[in-house]
Amino acid sequence: MMDTIYVDNNATTMVAPQVLDEMLPYFSEMYGNPSSMHKFGGEVGYKIKEARSKIAALIGADPDEIIFTSCGTESDSTAIHAAVQSNPEKKHIITTRVEHPAVKNLGEFFSKNGYRVTFVPVDRKGNLDLDYLYDNLTDNTAIVSIMWANNESGIIFPIQEISMAVRERGIVFHTDAVQAAGKIPVDVMKTGVDMLSLSGHKIHAPKGIGVLYVHKGTKFSPFLIGGHQERGRRGGTENVASIIGIGKAGELAADHLKTEIVRVARLRDRLENGILQRVTNAFVNGDKENRLPNTTSIAFEYVEGEAILLLMDEFGICASSGSACTSGSLEPSHVLRAMGVPFTAAHGSIRFSLSVYNTQEEIDFIVEKIPPVIERLREMSPFWHEAQSNQ
Ligand code: PLP
Repeated sequence: MMDTIYVDNNATTMVAPQVLDEMLPYFSEMYGNPSSMHKFGGEVGYKIKEARSKIAALIGADPDEIIFTSCGTESDSTAIHAAVQSNPEKKHIITTRVEHPAVKNLGEFFSKNGYRVTFVPVDRKGNLDLDYLYDNLTDNTAIVSIMWANNESGIIFPIQEISMAVRERGIVFHTDAVQAAGKIPVDVMKTGVDMLSLSGHKIHAPKGIGVLYVHKGTKFSPFLIGGHQERGRRGGTENVASIIGIGKAGELAADHLKTEIVRVARLRDRLENGILQRVTNAFVNGDKENRLPNTTSIAFEYVEGEAILLLMDEFGICASSGSACTSGSLEPSHVLRAMGVPFTAAHGSIRFSLSVYNTQEEIDFIVEKIPPVIERLREMSPFWHEAQSNQ
C-alpha cells in the first residue's frame, strides 16, 4: 500500500502510541465501573482522577473544574445550553460568523427559537471585529461564545482581552478551544474564561471523548441529566479508556508545546514557502502573523479544491478543501466567505494542517507534487485561460 502523508490534523489526529498503550488494559482486564464500591472499580476510579488532573494541568484548571463529555460538540452544546438555562430572562447570544458548526448551527437553532443571536464578523485577514462585538454586549446577553482558534484558517482570537471585556459586563464567556489546545498555550486562569471546550481526537486521543471546563462558581445545569457521574454535571457511566487516553494525550501535548511545536511551525513554513515559490496565483488565506503553528490555508486561484484533493490523493497526500459539497453545488466554506476571499480563490483553497508526527521528507514530497498538480488543473480550467488572456 502507498504510504499516507497525513496533513489533515485539524480534521482529526492519529492516536498517539503512548495513549493507546495506556488505554488498552481498560478494554480488557481493567473493566470495573469507577462508581463501584469494590477495589476493582476503585482502581479504575483512581485512573480517572489521574486523567482529570493531567487534562486540568494542560489548561491551568483545577481538576474539579473538568467535566468529561463525549466530544467537542457536546462540550459546546452543554456550555451554551447551561448559560441559557441559568439566565432564563436573557434572550440574546453572541458568537462569530466563523465558528465550527458545533456553535454556529446551535446559534442558528436558538435564533429560530426565541433568541436574538449576533454573529460577529471577521475582516479579510480573518481577525475578529472587536468593536462590533463590544458594541453588541447588552444586559440581555446570556452568553458570548467565541472560538480560541479557527479550524480552517488557523487564526487565533484575542481570548484574554475578549474574556475580560465580556466578564466585566457580568456576561458568561465560553470559548471553543478545540483547535487551540496542544498547539498554543491555553490557560484558563490567565484568560479568565468561564467555560472552555476541548476534543480528544484533535490532540492524539481517540474520537468520542471531550472535555468541558467550567470555572468554579459559574452557574451550570447539566445537559445529560442522569447519575451522579462527573459530580452530577454529566450523567452516564464514564468512557473509561478514552478518559484515560485524553489524560495521557493532555500530558504529551503539554510536553510538545515546549519543544515539538516549534519544529511543526518550521515545517509548516517550509511547506507554505515551498508551494508559494513554485506556484503563481496562489496566496495564504488569513493573517500569517496570527495563526496556529500547524495550519496553512492556501488559495490556488482558478482551480477547484476538490480536484486538487483528488489528484493529491493519488500520491497519498491527505488534506482538506475550503468547500463543502452541498446538493451538488460547491459552496466555499462559511469561514472563507466570512473573510471575503474572492470566489475564484475560495474555490481552490486547500487547508494543510500538520502534527508532531510529520517529517521534513513528507513536506518536501508535497512541495514537489503540488506544482504539477496545479499546472495540470489550470491547463483544463476555462477560468484560468480567461484570466490569462485578460492580463
Ligand atoms: N470545534 C472546533 C473548532 C472543531 O474544529 C471541531 C471539530 O472539527 C469541533 C468543535 C467538534 O469537535 P468533535 O468532533 O469532537 O465534536
